[in-house]
Amino acid sequence: MMFNHTARPNITIAVYALCLAVLTAFAVSNLQILSFAGGVADDVRSEVEQHLMQAEIDRQIDVLFRDQSQISYWDKTVTALGGGVDQKFVQDEIADWLWEDFGIESSVVIQPDGTPLLSVFRSLVMDPAAGLPYVARNRDLVEAARQKYLAHRTPRNGGFVVTGTPARFSPPFHASDVRIVDGQFGVVTAQAIIPDDEEVLPDGMPQVLLTFKPLSKEMLAGIGESLGLEDLSVAPVAAPVEGRSSMVVSQLAGQPPLAASWKVELPSSIIWNRAIGPLVASFVVVTVALLMVALRYGRAIQALQQSEARNRHRATHDNLTGLPNRLQFDQALDAIIAERRQNRCAILCLDLDKFKAVNDTHGHQAGDVVLKTAARRVADAVGETGMTARVGGDEFIILLWDNLERANVLDLCDTIITSVCQDIAFEGGVARIGASVGVAWWPDDALSAKNIIRSADEALYRAKDNGRGQTWFAGDSGDLGAGATERRKPENGVTTKVTVAA
Ligand code: GH3
Ligand code: MG
Repeated sequence: MMFNHTARPNITIAVYALCLAVLTAFAVSNLQILSFAGGVADDVRSEVEQHLMQAEIDRQIDVLFRDQSQISYWDKTVTALGGGVDQKFVQDEIADWLWEDFGIESSVVIQPDGTPLLSVFRSLVMDPAAGLPYVARNRDLVEAARQKYLAHRTPRNGGFVVTGTPARFSPPFHASDVRIVDGQFGVVTAQAIIPDDEEVLPDGMPQVLLTFKPLSKEMLAGIGESLGLEDLSVAPVAAPVEGRSSMVVSQLAGQPPLAASWKVELPSSIIWNRAIGPLVASFVVVTVALLMVALRYGRAIQALQQSEARNRHRATHDNLTGLPNRLQFDQALDAIIAERRQNRCAILCLDLDKFKAVNDTHGHQAGDVVLKTAARRVADAVGETGMTARVGGDEFIILLWDNLERANVLDLCDTIITSVCQDIAFEGGVARIGASVGVAWWPDDALSAKNIIRSADEALYRAKDNGRGQTWFAGDSGDLGAGATERRKPENGVTTKVTVAA
């Protein structure tokens, strides 16, 4: 039962674990906040970009409409395309003006029966039939423009006037979309050809001007630059591309949707790039601080635990011999008797014989050495079969819980006495002492702890009274002459005898 100075590590480990948990929580929460902030920033940016893109598409549509409405919303056009086609008007105003001034590449005037009246490609007036495929692909817009016209006319003087005609550049009579025409992305717009005064028109479908203004790659790049969108392009929707954001700009039945896409630099990556440095720095600072706290408190707790363990040991052990003391013995005996941990046990009271003489002859220090040696010999002899406690000057008490047969106990007492009787060397001499033992069994000889100790003590005194160096059992007659068996006669003249039951 050696004293172990290693403190219980539980609290120290708990402190380290707590610091580790705080550190982990710090890191995780920071990363989560960053990740959350990055996610929100990405969403907001994406939303803003989509709004910008949509606004730009609307603007481009508006621009084309305003440009082409200078022809489609004009008395002169109605007149020039009315009775027969005024070729000069067509060349000057539609072919040259729309192309050169506004970049409108294709202009087709569609008759009420749906066939092209004239087709213009850039500055070239073509065969009207050349516009057929173009009309076929954008028939929905033509139809929508016609319906808007019909919805806004009012009967007057045997014909119709278009009513509610708003200010010149915002009439709601056009139908527009962004589309790919002949492999080129651009804006298509259709509007009924109407006079800009309230001239009476005949009943029936109007003529419709269908125009297409391509948005070249350069124009798209310019738009992208003005919107802050890098590498803007428009193409039929394909699988999402890593690192690009996209939005559908046109959705035609039976065709893949058309999407504008651009390179994204997500704010989250900027946030991460900027924040990771300070985050790592603060993590290091917190780690160092926590490490210091953990070490400091860990050491303090360890010292406390060691001190507590030392005090506990002191309270339950004899200072000189290191054996359990009376308190520990009482607790152990109580555990057996009160808690019934054993059915039976033996109490051995042992007192060294003639020990005082060692003190008197060789001094107290030599006495201490002899005491310690004798104590160790007794404890070694008892071993794991019981507990040896020092309870007084040269008094020991042994609680035996194993090998409780009388013969075995007798053998043990004999071994103890023989062992103690061996020479004990100390600095400057050798001493020889002896030992007497009194034995009592619980619960055979007494029931309470107090009484069983008293019984063993009385047996010890009988052993002393009867010549020392012997073992007496409580309850035996103690008649030495009749029952004692001589076991050993040490050289110092102390005779070891054992009484046996009568
Ligand atoms: P007996 O044979 O009758 O037991 O006599 P004894 O000489 O052994 O003396 P006794 O048991 O009556 O007294 C024990 C002595 O042990 C008394 C005291 O001087 C001495 N003693 C008690 N405690 C210590 C100690 O811690 N160190 C030393 N060196 N001596 C002690
Ligand atoms: Mg003594």
